[in-house]
Amino acid sequence: MLLHTDLPENSPQDRQLTDKLYISDPELRISQEILLGIGGMRALDRLGIKPTIYHMNEGHSAFLSLERLRQLLASGKTMEEAKEIVSASNIFTTHTPVPAGNDEFPPIWLVDKYFSNYWGELGLDREGFLDLAKVRNDWADEVFSMPVLALRLSNYRNGVSKLHGKVSRGGMWQGLWQDKAEDDVPISSVTNGVHTLSWLARRIAELYKRTFGLDWINHIDDPKMWEGIERIDDAELWQIRFHLKRKLVNYMVTRARYQWANNNVHPPVQTVASGVLLEPSALTIGFARRFATYKRANLIFHDWDRLLRIITNPKKPVQIIFAGKAHPNDEPGKRMIQEVYRAVKDARNGGRLVFLEDYDMDMARYLTQGVDVWLNNPRRPREASGTSGMKAAMNGVLNFSVLDGWWAEGYNGVNGWAIGDETEYTDLDAQDKADANSLYDTLENEIVPLYYTKRSADGLPADWLQRVKTVCAASRPHFR
Ligand SMILES: *Cc1c(COP(=O)(O)O)cnc(C)c1O
Repeated sequence: MLLHTDLPENSPQDRQLTDKLYISDPELRISQEILLGIGGMRALDRLGIKPTIYHMNEGHSAFLSLERLRQLLASGKTMEEAKEIVSASNIFTTHTPVPAGNDEFPPIWLVDKYFSNYWGELGLDREGFLDLAKVRNDWADEVFSMPVLALRLSNYRNGVSKLHGKVSRGGMWQGLWQDKAEDDVPISSVTNGVHTLSWLARRIAELYKRTFGLDWINHIDDPKMWEGIERIDDAELWQIRFHLKRKLVNYMVTRARYQWANNNVHPPVQTVASGVLLEPSALTIGFARRFATYKRANLIFHDWDRLLRIITNPKKPVQIIFAGKAHPNDEPGKRMIQEVYRAVKDARNGGRLVFLEDYDMDMARYLTQGVDVWLNNPRRPREASGTSGMKAAMNGVLNFSVLDGWWAEGYNGVNGWAIGDETEYTDLDAQDKADANSLYDTLENEIVPLYYTKRSADGLPADWLQRVKTVCAASRPHFR
């Protein structure tokens, strides 16, 4: 069902409310959230739909709890009863361990503007209303926090990986339960998964079907079935992996050709930067995600000369494809894209670095299926989950990642590589330096040799292919 406002009877401003997902203007944002939470509840009522459970993903829909309270109070319940009923049937999933990622107001005048007619219906005064969503009771500043509202009015709360659950119970939200020890803060975790058939390459699906039988998709949670992965023929697996990489290269060339032909101000360097010099036979690394700064897209440029030596080795070249967008308000994120782009345009990289614009799901599919290695180097522990790594893993793409989010659970020592260790840092520069060095060491000493060392008999990289089989078998049963 789609809730939207683009109807002729609405005012021109209101018609635009649902045009954009990420709106920076706080007044438009609070309006969207009122529409989603309160309007959404009223729409369900009109449709005669009575949900058993209300699941809020992040705080964006948290106003629904207020509307539920209001309806219960109107039906004669006391506030205490209403809160009990609402909390018992609300679920809240938090997705971000980064405080700035949370949705809150100030500007508090917006809360006054839009809710001064509403809090009376809840039998509350201004202070009582603001208390519902205040980060800390002893805090003088007035903040209306959407996740706090959701946390207070849900009895079941979870993060999206084990480590993210721990971070949520600790530094992130322990302040709401000051009487409790960190381990007793009532936020659990359910590790994210990804939908197999939406992200699996057709050729890999066919390979699984031939290997495990027609009904394989109904047994993906069975580790026993996955043991059969050893039966897959190395030559066939290598050929499929190569096919997927060639498809990715073709995709990039087609895009570059289209841009070149349809935009006569497009400078040649931009065409080179969009991947036309890549070769499918070279070890190819993918890095594609939102350009939030904690994801450190620029980490691999920490020691530019060392990186250049690695990627331009004529016998064992390494190619890196970057893709992603920054949030429209995230200036540091945009600067990070510029930094990556400068490196991509630097001719000394020999065309081994690529940046793809307009990252979307279609591109994500080509990338997570086509590259050899999926790179993820967030500043631990800020990556709540990192689901793109799961998409890569199911296609036999090896993860090379900081032990954060899902990879802290998914890594088993042989199904990819870890960057850095589980040290907790207060000095962020020291963390960046240690992680960058770990990244270069592993890339240089383990990943590149493993990829380029082939059996002399059949020319196949047997040890690499063994890892490819391991990553398929190790991730699918758990992260779905
Ligand atoms: C999977 C996916 C993401 C999430 O990736 P992360 O690993 O969590 O950063 C983001 N954008 C698109 C288009 C995706 O397909």
